[in-house]
Amino acid sequence: MKKVAIIGAGITGLSAAYYLEDAEIEVLEQSDRPGGKIKTYQRDGYTIELGPESYLARKSIMTELATAIGLGDDIVANQTGQSYIYAKNQLYPMPGGSIMGIPTEIKPFLETRLLSPLGKVRAGMDYFIKPDKMTTDISVGAFFRKRLGNEALENLIEPLLSGIYGADIDRLSLKSTFPNFKEQEETHGSLIKGMRDQKKKAPKKTETKGQFRQFRNGLQSFIDRLAETVTDKGAKIRYNSEVTAVQQSGDGYLVTVNGQETYYDRVIVTVPHTVFSKWFEDAPLRYFKHMETTSVATVVMAFDESQVKNEENGTGFVIARNSDTVITACTWTSKKWTHSTPAGKVLLRAYVGRPGDTVVRDHDDAELVKLARRDLDKMMDINGEPEFTIVTRLMNSMPLYEVGHIDRIHAIQRYMRETYPGLILTGASFEAVGLPDCIAQAKSAAEEINKDNYIA
Ligand SMILES: Cc1cc2nc3c(=O)[nH]c(=O)nc-3n(C[C@H](O)[C@H](O)[C@H](O)COP(=O)(O)OP(=O)(O)OC[C@H]3O[C@@H](n4cnc5c(N)ncnc54)[C@H](O)[C@@H]3O)c2cc1C
Repeated sequence: MKKVAIIGAGITGLSAAYYLEDAEIEVLEQSDRPGGKIKTYQRDGYTIELGPESYLARKSIMTELATAIGLGDDIVANQTGQSYIYAKNQLYPMPGGSIMGIPTEIKPFLETRLLSPLGKVRAGMDYFIKPDKMTTDISVGAFFRKRLGNEALENLIEPLLSGIYGADIDRLSLKSTFPNFKEQEETHGSLIKGMRDQKKKAPKKTETKGQFRQFRNGLQSFIDRLAETVTDKGAKIRYNSEVTAVQQSGDGYLVTVNGQETYYDRVIVTVPHTVFSKWFEDAPLRYFKHMETTSVATVVMAFDESQVKNEENGTGFVIARNSDTVITACTWTSKKWTHSTPAGKVLLRAYVGRPGDTVVRDHDDAELVKLARRDLDKMMDINGEPEFTIVTRLMNSMPLYEVGHIDRIHAIQRYMRETYPGLILTGASFEAVGLPDCIAQAKSAAEEINKDNYIA
């Protein structure tokens, strides 16, 4: 049986262990817990996510995996409601019928005060601007500036899209992140027409559930069950095992953990690129040495409901970049996820940290709470101090998929197959950052190893 090392026990590493077959598996994890960026905190009836918050339901692989490991009944959907954008010093409802900020209905778009009349006319020019055939990659910013104009980009599109990737939209690769927008534009001659068509063709909603999923006891419960499942099938998870090197040796690899080398026939690396890039000096992999990241922090605040006046029936807001705030978004967690908060309490979760800024690095926890509170006071009516706060720093946690990213990744994957057979690099620095995408990438790495012609 082949001996396989999986480096990292985040969602990617544990999923790879789940999908591997006929192998002696060791998962090597530097910390003392599974989950990586996923971390749920529970106390006094609260279930609070400190890192990622949920996953997109339409990416069904995560629901399938959760069901397969016996957590199907624990899945919960978010409450829906109006979402908001903070721009020009006030909260505006997101215009009805928009998909990721792209208008698909005329009336709500004409009525919104988020854009000036000129901004609306410019966005409407999307109907008449001829698409360029995408031969090379471009930035998400360049694409939307051309289709809808600067004002729509800054007040509608950028706050929504840049938050997902924690990236500067003018450097973010369109091909690696939202290739569907370009396809719709090219097929229909207009982005708005394309999105309207996509909406028409989408199956009619029969339920009122939101588009995100979570677990009754938080994302950590999914991770814990996954870790249990892979352990039951014989995999060993070795905590406090920091990998410092991986070297080719015969047909396999020597992996150094806490100064000691162990031989494995196959290796799957799922740690962030900031870590594994130190292990390789090969020219094609130098890309990862320069790949930038954004540091973010989540600031959770719990209040009694008497302290917060928030009559909006919504789930939170994102913030236009030209606003003078440190926070980039805020989730009204107790409204969005009713399981997260006991009755009579209000839970807010603000995000801090923009690409290129050093706010998270420069301030201690108490200062970050103060800064977040100062911003929230501009947008909401809150009285008194929170009952408790939790600040979680995720340093260098958002990889920047710069223009050209996905083509480089494909070239690196070809190089790895030729130069390092049986050693697979994967995870959030590669094809997509979302939790279901991490599972999908782990599955394809495991399948590649399952079907290689290993002879004992
Ligand atoms: C603030 C934030 C919010 C997010 N929100 C969402 C969301 O709501 N929905 C969503 O779908 N996605 C979200 N994401 C993205 C998602 O969380 C990540 O892409 C995903 O968790 C990455 O998982 P991973 O297993 O690839 O890496 P990680 O979670 O980083 O796991 C890597 C593991 O490797 C370990 N490790 C590191 N170095 C070593 C070493 N030298 N030796 C051994 N082990 C090592 C680490 O300790 C860690 O356990 C968010 C990301 C951030 C930062």
